[in-house]
Amino acid sequence: MGINILWDQQAPGGIELPVVRMIAMILGRDPGLVEYPFLIDGYDRNRDQHDAQKILDRLQDTLKRRYDIPGPLLLVTSKDLYVNGCDFVFGLARPACGVAVVSTARLENDYYGRTPDDTDLIDRAAKEGAHELGHLIGLDHCGNPECVMFRPRTLDELDRKRKMLCPACRETLASWEER
Ligand SMILES: [Zn+2]
Ligand SMILES: [Zn+2]
Repeated sequence: MGINILWDQQAPGGIELPVVRMIAMILGRDPGLVEYPFLIDGYDRNRDQHDAQKILDRLQDTLKRRYDIPGPLLLVTSKDLYVNGCDFVFGLARPACGVAVVSTARLENDYYGRTPDDTDLIDRAAKEGAHELGHLIGLDHCGNPECVMFRPRTLDELDRKRKMLCPACRETLASWEER
């Protein structure tokens, strides 16, 4: 069951391949890369953000149900995301349906008034992409602050994570694969 990564046309261009390669390295899977053919749903004018749940609804209803695309799907978008009760989220996964979304909005140095750097952006997008896909292939959050499955609340916590799964998460993944 192959993983597919959908790239929003407005998400930063030119970093797709390095991000996909790094995700492949982290998870030990080889994801496909497809351009996302729709506009991004769930815009909230008051917040100037997009509702991540509505984006997942669209992935689930249209791509999973109507087009019957098998395997985990991850959308990468430049839109800033929220869920009810949270100021923002870096990403969101719905494991029961095999769909997830990641936003690059708060992964760019510009957002924090720092000097733009594609390497930082690629690392962060790959870590967050691998994290959400990790949920879709059976992993929960991990307490190890260096593990990709650790849940970061800030950019610094995200940067502290390494581009890998910790041994415990790797073992969990392997046990899923044996089934
Ligand atoms: Zn998570
Ligand atoms: Zn872990």
